[in-house]
Amino acid sequence: MNSIAIDGPAGSGKSTLTRGLAKKLGWNFLDTGAIYRTIAEACRKEGVSPQDESSVTKVARKAKIELGYKGGLQHMYLNGEDVSGQIRTEEIDNIVPLISTYKGVRDVVVKLQRDFASRENLVVEGRDIGSFVLKDSKNKFYLTASPEERAKRRYLERINRGEQADFDAILKDIKERDHMDMTRKIAPLVKAKDAILIDTSNLTLEEAIDLVYSKVKL
Ligand code: C5P
Repeated sequence: MNSIAIDGPAGSGKSTLTRGLAKKLGWNFLDTGAIYRTIAEACRKEGVSPQDESSVTKVARKAKIELGYKGGLQHMYLNGEDVSGQIRTEEIDNIVPLISTYKGVRDVVVKLQRDFASRENLVVEGRDIGSFVLKDSKNKFYLTASPEERAKRRYLERINRGEQADFDAILKDIKERDHMDMTRKIAPLVKAKDAILIDTSNLTLEEAIDLVYSKVKL
């Protein structure tokens, strides 16, 4: 099976680019952050403290996590319930970087990701896809954009959904999350040596998709 690994920090444009690229290729896609978010949601629901590694790991092992696609979007199911909306809140934004540092949690998610990628051609977005999960993939991209540009995108996303948003708070969160994702011991966010760096700060979505598409090895 062929695969394309798209890694990068929050707000770099990974999710929209991944979906657009998959559509253009006629492939399926996988948003791996959504799986970590679903485990964070399972902990929240069960009242397990994100600091309690052993309990979080138990929750991750026990949770029935399933994926589905509706209208071109990935939906996440936790023990049969569609939690796709719930996993996009600020509360989950704050829990997920910590629980995703736990080895037991990563083991569960990595297995799920590899099972998926063994079955079909897939565009996979995440933090450690090119560097770890699919390190033999022949297509690796590392997306980035300045923190200010990324915060602006998150801000507009929230405003467009009719939610309230505070630009400075979002910028601060993005910087904190980058720091945690980049400095953790297990599977940190790093550009794989053989990944192509794409800075999306000054690119439209279409331009970014076309640029990545032109570099894909089929
Ligand atoms: O991509 P998204 O912002 O939804 O990811 C949420 C969090 O999940 C990230 O901040 C990171 O802590 C974690 N994550 C990860 N490895 C991945 C994807 C996401 O650790 N492959």
